[in-house]
Amino acid sequence: MNVSIFELFKIGVGPSSSHTVGPMRAGRAFVLAAAEAGMLTQAHRIQIDLYGSLALTGKGHGTDLAVLLGVQGEAPDQIDPDRIPQMMAEIRRHHQLYLGGAHRIGFNEPQDLVFHYLETLPYHPNGMRFSLWDANKKNLFTETYYSIGGGFIVNEKEIGKSRAETKAPVPYPFSTGKELLDHCKKTGLSIAQIMLENEKAWHTEAEVKAWALKIWSVMQACIERGCTEAGILPGGLKVKRRAHIVKEKLLEQEKAGLARDEMNWINLYALAVNEENAAGGRVVTAPTNGAAGIIPAVLNYYLHFTPNGGDAEILTFLLTATAIGILFKEGASISAAEMGCQGEVGVACSMAAAALTAVWGGTPWQVENAAEMGIEHNLGLTCDPVGGLVQIPCIERNTMGSVQAVNCAKLALMGDGTHVVSLDDAIKAMKQTGHDMKDQYKETSKGGLAIAVNQPAC
Ligand code: SF4
Repeated sequence: MNVSIFELFKIGVGPSSSHTVGPMRAGRAFVLAAAEAGMLTQAHRIQIDLYGSLALTGKGHGTDLAVLLGVQGEAPDQIDPDRIPQMMAEIRRHHQLYLGGAHRIGFNEPQDLVFHYLETLPYHPNGMRFSLWDANKKNLFTETYYSIGGGFIVNEKEIGKSRAETKAPVPYPFSTGKELLDHCKKTGLSIAQIMLENEKAWHTEAEVKAWALKIWSVMQACIERGCTEAGILPGGLKVKRRAHIVKEKLLEQEKAGLARDEMNWINLYALAVNEENAAGGRVVTAPTNGAAGIIPAVLNYYLHFTPNGGDAEILTFLLTATAIGILFKEGASISAAEMGCQGEVGVACSMAAAALTAVWGGTPWQVENAAEMGIEHNLGLTCDPVGGLVQIPCIERNTMGSVQAVNCAKLALMGDGTHVVSLDDAIKAMKQTGHDMKDQYKETSKGGLAIAVNQPAC
């Protein structure tokens, strides 16, 4: 167990964690490594090769702009999303890149940014290779990275090495739900408290709390902006933004004296976040961008519809969600290119269900029960984004995952936490289902809805 709340919840940009956030981080990591090796300033040309799912849905998911801005030294949590179109226009107008933000080279896009639609690198479907060449066409420096879901990246050289070796040990290590619940039973601590004790091996308690509140403030800003923006989402599908319309209707209904429509408020929060994500706005990867709306929608619902929710509950919510997210990362994957949408929306639903159960006062066993239901009823969910864009079915699917998470929490609290299928068994089932799923349903836009509506990705 070596993943922290600082890693599972990342501040990034839309539309995709594996195809935008991860590749931007990889591009930046590459130029930093090249600079450290003393190769950057000798570079005359860069070639970036994108493989597998990054090639097949990369254009719709913004992978091209992500790697180019990454090699210019931009980071997903720092870049101003509103400036991205202008930065890309400058690269394309001048046919130039500034590696690491300073070293200028020429850039011939068709030759220097290559999409390998029929080839996949061995470790993971989301592979990319960066190479630098000098003026005599001699290779200076090459690195291969994989974007493994949720904005996490690995360098080819790190594969097989345990990150746990490089981090301080935690007091309550766990990689399964059983281990987590055993810690709760032995100590009397809640899942969030176990998680906080582990985080304290790496950060101070004040830092953890500050990060949780910062994450929540970015989520809130995303909901607010998503509720006000109008117009058509980019990419060519002509999908209309509708969160602002839903909000107006809800406010009108309440003004007319009708009862608050809780379910549609949850729908609204999720729509707002995922429309922002689809527009390339600032979002929190939670645990991925495609599923970024579920955790903010459920937390916002809790804070608006439950009295007395405050900073302590926000911390409990996000720490509980982190613990459940870790179980999926340890036991399966949160990459849609490996698991389909069950690894994104399914996992986010499970995390949110668990977190809501915790802040509603559930025991660790009820929390685990809610998490299990959250994934059990998403098993087999495919990833088939129309046109390679994170819009259809993604935006609406987050509303479904959010409402389902609330239902899982309500149902779990009606029981005593005992149930037949454990969360560990459900995670095993998800992993096996992901392996059995054909590639066309795993973020390739080659099957399902993506084909039914005849919108090829490339
Ligand atoms: S279908 Fe699901 S997994 Fe695929 S891009 Fe959309 S939200 Fe992500």
